[in-house]
Amino acid sequence: MILSVEDLHVHYKSYWYTHKVLNGVWLRMNEGERVGIIGETGSGKTTLLKSILKVLPQNSVIPRGQIRFRDIEILKADDRVLASVRRREIGMIFQDPMAALNPVFKIKDQLYDIIKYKMLADGVSPSREELHEEALRVLSDVRLPDHERVLESYPFQLSGGMRQRVMIAMALLSAGKLLLADEPTTNIDVTIQDQILRLIGRLVKERGLSTVLVSHALGMVRQMTDRSYVLYAGDIMEEAGTEELFEHPKHPYTQLLIASAPRISERGIGEGIKGKLPDYRSPPSGCRFAPRCPFAMEKCYNVKPGRTQVNADHTVACHLYE
Ligand code: SF4
Repeated sequence: MILSVEDLHVHYKSYWYTHKVLNGVWLRMNEGERVGIIGETGSGKTTLLKSILKVLPQNSVIPRGQIRFRDIEILKADDRVLASVRRREIGMIFQDPMAALNPVFKIKDQLYDIIKYKMLADGVSPSREELHEEALRVLSDVRLPDHERVLESYPFQLSGGMRQRVMIAMALLSAGKLLLADEPTTNIDVTIQDQILRLIGRLVKERGLSTVLVSHALGMVRQMTDRSYVLYAGDIMEEAGTEELFEHPKHPYTQLLIASAPRISERGIGEGIKGKLPDYRSPPSGCRFAPRCPFAMEKCYNVKPGRTQVNADHTVACHLYE
């Protein structure tokens, strides 16, 4: 197993309130596996990815939980170990390249920095020529044309698609084992989303990386992953092989989520799921989906459902299956 998350709770503190966002999340993945995490915007997907890298904002608290990457306990690891993991083992493609890239530095300076620290961690002190050569190589890996111009550009001088390719190049430099991709096509023109996805898919395959792909775009997750988790309001509701999950969803939330995905068909666009995510300041104490669930029973409002294995490849957290 390359990554396991157990009973992860993450809270955000504001002046008056505590927002209890992740509520006992669990996840397991094997080496080389491609895992998808689906759920509505605001359900805690990005918080989960940032927890794995331990790059949560300063107002966050982790009262409970365990994250194990290979043989490293991420939440207990010291800064030196975490720096090494972030430089050499786990890379992350952030949702918004414009926010993730530093606007006041040229692309070359941002790339050189990552390459330099990675090589130093490997015990090599690179010359400027070696940094330049490596930067050209990674830009060609992500199929960016006109490498020299890209290196001399500031982020605002590149198109959205080019910025995202630079982000992918940066993430791949650090992703020796695991790539985390947070909504990698959200801010990209729809006409090149498919190209970016195919690029990520090809690079992951070539390098034999394990991947966690987070998205609310169900089609993308279905196309690109082997196993999927459904996250709702900070709780894992269901987990199964991706095809099994999409063909035979068990949890009421997953069923409604899949039914509400926009499709081009004679039936038109689905109605969506009525209601909204709970208020994280005072979330329901039982099943967090209960206020929106058409099958909610009295017990659902008081008791959080445990995990039930419905078959060897499929787990669901719902009182209907206990
Ligand atoms: Fe619905 Fe109850 Fe199942 Fe939650 S536990 S999804 S409220 S039936």
